Amino acid sequence: MTNHNVSKIIFVTGASSGIGEAIARRLAAEGHHVVLTGRRIERLNEVVAELVRAGHSAEAHALDVADAAAFAELVGTVIAEHGRLDVLVGNAGQMLLSRLDSLLVDEWDRMFDVNVRGLYYGIAAVLPHFRAQESGHVVTIASVGAREVSPTSAIYSATKHAAWALTEGLRQESDPSIRVTTISPGVTESELAGHITDQHAAELMVGYRAAQIPADAIARSVSFAISQPAEVDVNEIIIRPTGQR
Ligand code: NDP
Repeated sequence: MTNHNVSKIIFVTGASSGIGEAIARRLAAEGHHVVLTGRRIERLNEVVAELVRAGHSAEAHALDVADAAAFAELVGTVIAEHGRLDVLVGNAGQMLLSRLDSLLVDEWDRMFDVNVRGLYYGIAAVLPHFRAQESGHVVTIASVGAREVSPTSAIYSATKHAAWALTEGLRQESDPSIRVTTISPGVTESELAGHITDQHAAELMVGYRAAQIPADAIARSVSFAISQPAEVDVNEIIIRPTGQR
């Protein structure tokens, strides 16, 4: 499955749809080896089969990012196979919007499990390896919700504020061999809003999501960040559709 023109080994969480899938497709097409992960292994296998047919280098693994032990084990497996890991793209996320008085506490827990714990479990899994190999890059897909709050977004925005803070904290703590980037998309084509169960929140999203950018717009920003010279760390990128206020 591996070709000989690979420049980086890149681990992408939530690569089975939307932004993560677009990141995996673009980075594989640019000659990197991409490890696509997510819970829906059939979809990951389909994307990988397509990439390999096109002459690219990729592999798929089932991973629930809320499972810290599984995350660490898979990172170890990838490093054992390839000898190193260059980039972790922490993209997996859920946006189960609702007002606080909806009391959908299980959904709030799930967002924290995936958007926050899933992110720091990934950082915990890669950091010892990045330090040992004296290089590495963590790219977090946060959100404009890391900077904004609106009715129904309190918990989701809280998770994305946390994602921003975690990534910025890592940047401040890391030695210069480790690079850290937070990318905050605005409204982007994906399956994200389709999982909202609260009817009021789902209705609000119809207008809010009228202007969308393709997921590859976010993938291009990841490509930009990881292709900089080693001494250049792109810290943050915010990308919105021109029509989004
Ligand atoms: P999608 O719903 O299309 O993709 C979400 C991805 O996350 C899927 O691949 C899904 O895979 C994965 N995922 C969800 N839960 C888990 C889990 N427990 N373990 C592993 N993977 C999981 O939405 P997007 O592409 O839009 O979302 C990607 C990221 O972009 C998210 O962090 C989101 O918050 C962020 N974002 C999106 C915006 C948008 O407008 N689309 C705007 C701002 C930020 P699977 O179901 O197979 O596990």
